[in-house]
Amino acid sequence: MQSVITTSHEVHFDAVAKEALNQSIKANTYSKIFVLVDQNTNTYCLPLFHKMFDGEVDAIITIAPGEPNKHIETCLKVWESLSDLGGDRKSLLINLGGGVVTDLGGFVACTFKRGIDFINIPTTLLAMVDASVGGKNGVDLGPLKNQIGVIRQPKMVLVLPSFLKTLPEREIISGFAEMLKHGLIVDREYWNTLRSNGVSKDVQSILKSVNIKSDIITEDPRENGVRKKLNFGHTLGHAVESFFLESNNRDTLLHGEAIAIGMILEAYLAHKLTGLSKLDLDEIKETFLRFYPKVDISTKEISKIKSLLIHDKKNSHGNINFVLLNEIGDAVVDIKVPDELIDEAFTYYK
Ligand code: NAD
Ligand code: ZN
Repeated sequence: MQSVITTSHEVHFDAVAKEALNQSIKANTYSKIFVLVDQNTNTYCLPLFHKMFDGEVDAIITIAPGEPNKHIETCLKVWESLSDLGGDRKSLLINLGGGVVTDLGGFVACTFKRGIDFINIPTTLLAMVDASVGGKNGVDLGPLKNQIGVIRQPKMVLVLPSFLKTLPEREIISGFAEMLKHGLIVDREYWNTLRSNGVSKDVQSILKSVNIKSDIITEDPRENGVRKKLNFGHTLGHAVESFFLESNNRDTLLHGEAIAIGMILEAYLAHKLTGLSKLDLDEIKETFLRFYPKVDISTKEISKIKSLLIHDKKNSHGNINFVLLNEIGDAVVDIKVPDELIDEAFTYYK
């Protein structure tokens, strides 16, 4: 099948992916090859990985699954394992998992011995269409998302949709949120297709999303301008995700579920500030509420969520900058939002 080439790394699909992996391993003289998995990808994805990989793995390193483990304590365990297993600067780390494994594994690889090569093999829809591509690696600090990290590109990304066969439906729908985001920020036609066809994990849609993300990061790998568009829905979405992560009496939301709420809220801000029409706004809300359960958020909880916004990475010089929409398919970056509009946005969501 196809490959997508970005500035600094390649994304290969299916049969091409297998070939690219095996050739790259042969061409490089890695001293050791490590594979990082979580407990679920160890069970469900390692067998398929072993089938596609001709080389020999020196060790499998397994971490506990899920966002609460995307922390520096987990990195410490992986760094120690790499060290105990004789890892050196010529080692390779293959990250086989969802966004938690690729974000954390990438960060571990970038920092171990001042940086070793890593390859991402995403096994969730979310990681295939978004997290594994683009070189953002990192971990959370307490409940605050992605506060510690680096931007550095993987050696390559290998997308094999067959991994999705074992992924629970809720996780598929979570990944679909990032695909809808891609449509909203740059491609109305893609948005229309996704919203009328429903949750999609077919290769063509995955490829379309990877292409959108690759084009953006090729133009702006270090997020000085256009790359910020990919943060649509994430300023409020991350605050909502953090709130649910640290709350003892509420169930955690998946990343895609939180940013789905963030996209409805930020679409409202766009309607008020950047000319998004009422028609577009209502279409966005209707679409997300069709796929993602409505979550009750009390007034008290809204003020807590707003306090978490202060830590957002898009926060510079004391201002919170949002990515908003002029219309569906056309995002605009660096828009300052008055505080009271955020409360109004939550009222619109209710
Ligand atoms: P995840 O890695 O936690 O995976 C979701 C769940 O599915 C986990 O329990 C995992 O063990 C399980 N799983 C993974 N593959 C499986 C398979 N094939 N079969 C069965 N179970 C499987 O979460 P995610 O949704 O993949 O990623 C979310 C993370 O990605 C968040 O931390 C988010 O911040 C990050 N993210 C990063 C970027 C980026 O640019 N770096 C972009 C978007 C999201
Ligand atoms: Zn995201």
